[in-house]
Amino acid sequence: MWGWLKRWAEKPAAVAEKGKPGHVVSRADILAWREAARRPLWLPLTQAGQSDTNPNRFGGTPSLAAGETWPCCQTCGAVMPLFLQLDTGSLPTGAPLAKEGSAGLLQLFGCRQKSCLAFTQDGSALARVLPVAPRYPTYSTVRTAVLAPNTITGWQAETQEPTSDEWDEANGQLPPDFTDDDDAVDYPWFRNGRSRDKLGGWPDWVQFPEYSTCRVCERPHTLVFQLESEENLDFVFGDVGTAYLTYCAQHPDELTFSWQCS
Ligand SMILES: [Zn+2]
Ligand SMILES: [Zn+2]
Repeated sequence: MWGWLKRWAEKPAAVAEKGKPGHVVSRADILAWREAARRPLWLPLTQAGQSDTNPNRFGGTPSLAAGETWPCCQTCGAVMPLFLQLDTGSLPTGAPLAKEGSAGLLQLFGCRQKSCLAFTQDGSALARVLPVAPRYPTYSTVRTAVLAPNTITGWQAETQEPTSDEWDEANGQLPPDFTDDDDAVDYPWFRNGRSRDKLGGWPDWVQFPEYSTCRVCERPHTLVFQLESEENLDFVFGDVGTAYLTYCAQHPDELTFSWQCS
């Protein structure tokens, strides 16, 4: 049988209208796209407490060089606790920030005052990559705010496909009432129905995809690190939400932090 006629007979819309407005894509198209868009991710292995030699941690005090400051909230003025610190040169090969070769110290701070959101958008959070320099853990004082430290001692590597939430409708519409087959699968990056802290991978959006765009090139950001309320960081984002540290892969200094809750 003529090959082209057979294909036409099986999937008329997918062949004839592909890429055109109103075209409805097939489930096979979605599955192929998900597989092609698979990303590596790493779940942190942690140990309670702060290390003087290992800078990778949740909470605790930031490591600072001479002249580097412990940031304050631009909304309320309070000293912001450290949420996350990562030596980007020590991250697994292929991880965000490590793969761009931007060696430095990533620091994420957020305001914990009830009136503030802990968003970089309004200065109630700060995400920065400091240059490579000798620096030392700071100590807490009455003015500083410190969350219980958890040191990252290793990483558990996994890979993750995007869900259909990430599908770009410009490539065709999802079939009516489409759901991902694996909605109920308990992946390692979920625990008891909640998403988990992770480096890389796809954001597990609580509500809907909400990417910042780069202030320099206007491309959408990608995930650096996802922070879950009260897993390794002793902090609750809104109503037990999930937080997303994202960046521009072309401009790794362009970092944004925000969160969603249900
Ligand atoms: Zn504040
Ligand atoms: Zn950019």
